Amino acid sequence: MVPRSVKHCRNCGVAVEHRVPDDGDTRERAICPACGTIHYLNPLLVVGTVPYLDDKVLLCKRAIEPRWGKWTLPAGFMEMGETVSEGAARETDEEAGAQIEMGPFFSFMSIPSIGQVHVFFLARLLSERFDPGVETAEARLFTEAEVPWEELAFTAVRETLRRFFDDQRRGAYGVHDVDIRR
Ligand code: ZN
Repeated sequence: MVPRSVKHCRNCGVAVEHRVPDDGDTRERAICPACGTIHYLNPLLVVGTVPYLDDKVLLCKRAIEPRWGKWTLPAGFMEMGETVSEGAARETDEEAGAQIEMGPFFSFMSIPSIGQVHVFFLARLLSERFDPGVETAEARLFTEAEVPWEELAFTAVRETLRRFFDDQRRGAYGVHDVDIRR
């Protein structure tokens, strides 16, 4: 995923210029030469869950780009008007149709190269029946040995899964703050 950029003013539609504003700011911003609006780009929050049942986790095979056909945890961009855990629960319902009991916060992954922060909550599965939405080709449970480690869609998913299984082996779930640099 390429970092987002602004090409046209959201206020008046004129092509923006990229320069440091004259207001003491130190970063280059997209500035409208016509109406003066400064467009700030800040990281986006991606929210999701690690749905698990005993020693297995639920993964979804993506039926959409990017990373079509790769496996992922249910997660997506947080929407306006919802909390982090509400967003994570919504994505789990939309992508996997899984019945869950939301658990504690688990991992926080900063990805500065693409301006994203991925946040995962643990979620205990209440049923082994799934009803995946249109973005998911297949939803199924995997033990650690069965996880298609080379076929995972995102680094944040791989890093979260590794910590989940490590914690399970230790017998206690931790809280993980991870920086993904690439
Ligand atoms: Zn403008």
